[in-house]
Amino acid sequence: MSATREDVGGTPLPPGWAKPAHQPDAFELTTTTFAERAAKTMARPFARGAIANATDHAAALTTARFVGTDHEALREEARKIRAHAIANLPDYLDQWIDQAERKGTIVHYAADESEARRIVAQICTDQQITRVVKSKSMASEEVSLNSALEAVGVDIYETDLGEFVVQAMGDRPGHVIAPILHRTKDEVHELFSAMAGHELPNEAEALTAFAREGLRHAFLTADAGISGGNFLIAETGDVLLVTNEGNGRLTTSLPPIHIALVGIEKVLPRRRDLAVLLPLLTGHGTGQQITTYVSVSAGPRRQGEPDGPEQMHVVLLDAGRSALLGGEFEEALHCIRCGACQNVCPVYRQVGGHAYGWVYGGPIGAVLTPLFRGQEEAGELAQATTLCGACDDVCPVKIPLHDLLLNLRRRSDAEGHVPRHEQVAFALWAQVWSRPLLYRASTAVARGSLRALARNGVVSAKSPLLRRWTAGRDLVVGKRPR
Ligand code: SF4
Repeated sequence: MSATREDVGGTPLPPGWAKPAHQPDAFELTTTTFAERAAKTMARPFARGAIANATDHAAALTTARFVGTDHEALREEARKIRAHAIANLPDYLDQWIDQAERKGTIVHYAADESEARRIVAQICTDQQITRVVKSKSMASEEVSLNSALEAVGVDIYETDLGEFVVQAMGDRPGHVIAPILHRTKDEVHELFSAMAGHELPNEAEALTAFAREGLRHAFLTADAGISGGNFLIAETGDVLLVTNEGNGRLTTSLPPIHIALVGIEKVLPRRRDLAVLLPLLTGHGTGQQITTYVSVSAGPRRQGEPDGPEQMHVVLLDAGRSALLGGEFEEALHCIRCGACQNVCPVYRQVGGHAYGWVYGGPIGAVLTPLFRGQEEAGELAQATTLCGACDDVCPVKIPLHDLLLNLRRRSDAEGHVPRHEQVAFALWAQVWSRPLLYRASTAVARGSLRALARNGVVSAKSPLLRRWTAGRDLVVGKRPR
């Protein structure tokens, strides 16, 4: 008697696992403003604390990782590699496609998000795929792949633990590398206990074991695995994936079909470029020397090989990327999605990833989202920065994020998206602050006004004049009273 899907994984699926939860698409840009979305996070004090702690920790790990190395030389080398790859992207993509097809990979090209959804849904329909395991993929978030597959009757199980939690909560990832950095262990405990149908111990090991049990079923019974890709190696036609949980490797090698959805800008010319890019990606992402797993997908299983998928598809996603080639924003394509700029950004650290309204948060989100979604929808994100330059200093491939944000602001102004009153206010401000006498006079007036508003050295949220500024924190004038 042949085994059923539910037999294959050993014990039966726990009650809450029978059907994966629906995850909302990452599109809040048209329905809410940045301020409204940020206010939601600001209203959850724990989330703010959790984000600040997690990003502090990640930034410290990154700093420690490169002590004793010539970090600056490595970054400069990485910048050159990425700049060369993107400047010659059409050639390297052709080379990658040629090599990948020689290895039996079926390559598709998606000009935009709807085409990517259609291609993957078509593969699922043609191959009668009804259950999919998915490794973390920001490209799939960009195209809202999950809802497209749900529409053709496919059950999707996110298998990265953080992604699995946000899916089960009906939430969205809050960070490129750490999707649940805005969530608490207690929230995960409550969720998993509800899925299990009984109270689980509120301990990380027990909660992880619960997820592992269900995910094992999903891996063993899936018809296909869907992944992203950290790099496409033009020289070999391979897709490279880094993970820490092993879920990427299981997703790409256990089910009979592997579908990778990868942005076209992920191309690297040669395998040896990984010697520079890989330590920077992992060091800036998680502070590790190298991630626990580095998986290379090199086409379907060949004759005589004991494992690997029988079919491998790669969907190359353009969706606004090629439009940036040769222009003033080309450097945004150098990004390797390490998340380091989010960790050091004083805006992201207060408002979290959801405030950016789409897939990417922090400085790179404030750059990419207006470029991919358009000025009308997302132009205001270029204002979500203090222009302190911390993101420039930390970026492993030296993207001048601060300059790109300024360029976006200039473009917004040139296209007439800046309101008249704002133009007049900034013109006046520039006139005043470019004259030393007026600058000193204006700052003296500001200091005096703040002192008049303060009580015991603090302007609190009760002050009607500065309510928007002080709604989420006290404004300390001079020394904070003890
Ligand atoms: S812009 Fe730089 S720091 Fe930010 S995610 Fe991309 S590579 Fe990392």
